[in-house]
Amino acid sequence: MQQIALLATVRLILTGALFALWPALAQNEVKGIPTTVDPGKELDHIIDHPSAEQAKSFEEVIDRAVNSERMLMRRLRDKSPVIETYIQETKGDPDLGFVPKDDFYFLGQLNMRDGVVDMSYLPPRSKVKAVAHTLAALFTTEYNSHGFSDQLFIDVNDFDRAHYSFEYIRREFLGDVRCFVVDVAPAEGAGKRRFKGRIWIEDRDYNIVRFQGQYQPSNYHEHIHFECWRVNSGGMWLPAYIYSQEEEYRSALVRTAAMRAQTRLWAYERAREKTDEAFTNMTVDVPQGVKDDSDAAADYSPLQSYRMWEEEAAQNVIDRLLRAGLIAPPGEVDQVLETVLNNLLVSANINLDFKVKARILLTTPLESMSLNHTILLSRGLIDVLPDEASLAAVLAHELAHIVLGHSMNTKFAFEDRLLFDDPAILRRVQVGRDRQEEAAADEKAIEILKKSPYKDSLPKVGLFLRMLSERSEQVPHLIKPLLGNRMSDSKKDLRLAGLMDQAPTLELRDKDQISALPLGSHIKMDPWSDQLHLIKTTATQRYAARDKMPFQITPFMLHLTREDKSGGGSATPATDTPTAAPVPSPATNSSVAPNANPVGQP
Ligand SMILES: [Zn+2]
Repeated sequence: MQQIALLATVRLILTGALFALWPALAQNEVKGIPTTVDPGKELDHIIDHPSAEQAKSFEEVIDRAVNSERMLMRRLRDKSPVIETYIQETKGDPDLGFVPKDDFYFLGQLNMRDGVVDMSYLPPRSKVKAVAHTLAALFTTEYNSHGFSDQLFIDVNDFDRAHYSFEYIRREFLGDVRCFVVDVAPAEGAGKRRFKGRIWIEDRDYNIVRFQGQYQPSNYHEHIHFECWRVNSGGMWLPAYIYSQEEEYRSALVRTAAMRAQTRLWAYERAREKTDEAFTNMTVDVPQGVKDDSDAAADYSPLQSYRMWEEEAAQNVIDRLLRAGLIAPPGEVDQVLETVLNNLLVSANINLDFKVKARILLTTPLESMSLNHTILLSRGLIDVLPDEASLAAVLAHELAHIVLGHSMNTKFAFEDRLLFDDPAILRRVQVGRDRQEEAAADEKAIEILKKSPYKDSLPKVGLFLRMLSERSEQVPHLIKPLLGNRMSDSKKDLRLAGLMDQAPTLELRDKDQISALPLGSHIKMDPWSDQLHLIKTTATQRYAARDKMPFQITPFMLHLTREDKSGGGSATPATDTPTAAPVPSPATNSSVAPNANPVGQP
């Protein structure tokens, strides 16, 4: 299978365990601070150093979970993570299950200082769309981004034993982390907008790591069912993934379709902290730190100067996107892409006097672009690619722009043009290309691909593009680029249309013809550092066409782990197995050394 081929390449390159399961370490050191049973009702009344001893009763478990929840809210007050929500409205199909029929997209920056508010990164919608959204927002609060950011915490003000009743269900492992499973219901007369559902409390520091349910009462369907997963990173359990789902229902005058939504949060580590770390890690052998003593190449020709100017413009844009939390720091996934790029260059016998680099945009909409010598692919695009050949095709198009010398706008070589608040970035930075350059790049890309090791797989690539074109009317926001050019269009097949001619007929109802994968199929993200890792899943058999789920939203199931000392990757969205969380042997001792580097202590 092609998908396995992609993962095999990855294994070749990434020696050692990317995602080690940390063995049980020594028992917690006892800090000797007495446990207070009642942590108080106010947010400021928080026990900062809870006891390292095990809770002695269920009531103590709940009180310490309440305390941990308050501690988390306080530590997140000065954070401004990026929040992205992608919604699909679906219609039922007897063979294909829940097929998307429309979609919505939100991208913004959260400010947790004054409650949970978000500032949109997206340009204001067109008038026609705005009306539709106002209507939708009136009747279903979930259809504005705020509805989703509300789902980060169980109850910001009153999560305690006075407002809720708690019932112990069982103990259970979520990945490597042993948890208490507890059902939560609003206490009698607790008031409106209270949470009812199930929570998972990890049994070392008593943090809530997963919760699912609905806010109540919801007589007018104003609240939807959701599940929030937290990931242990940056010394905290950070809200990172939220899945929402609601079946068809009627709400006042508006009939709302069944919907599924994924919300992702990242960039909790502030850009300033990243910069400080980079400065600390700086070593003497950085290129600009090495003085060139030969007199042969002391000066720059006008052409060389222009090339350097272009590269400065590109680097400025990339740095700005990094500061805004929209691009991943350099990492292993980039190297996989660069290996494929190198394959393309070598087989096409193209010699360049610079290195072509690859970086990943952290967002979901499917897009690719090139900034001078750096190729950017979105996480969402990589996630839905069915095989390595499709990855090569997407890269080949951008590589063609580079090989053909298509230049970028150099106005960003003046860094002051990038001085604005983060939410303005998508309005200020647009790097799309004109039709002529797009057509030329497609032609060149196909020439490169036909000489490449992927040449026999090109019909399958055509199949992916055909599927994209087929679905483009149902997922307009998934294919609408944030920064660059469209990959597909409902009216005409856009990107690499030449490959589609060779593709076999699209068989939506054939369970074995895989044209595109569900969202989130390849990459997991650390919500603190934005580091990306490839997920490792076992092959799962597909029994019916509905198991293919191209471009579709699936629930999140995370293999939770405790953060290691260096703060590496910590969770796997297991998109292939949306049915049950893996439960390892309860014999595993889940005690791990205390977090080495707690951050954000006020
Ligand atoms: Zn292009």
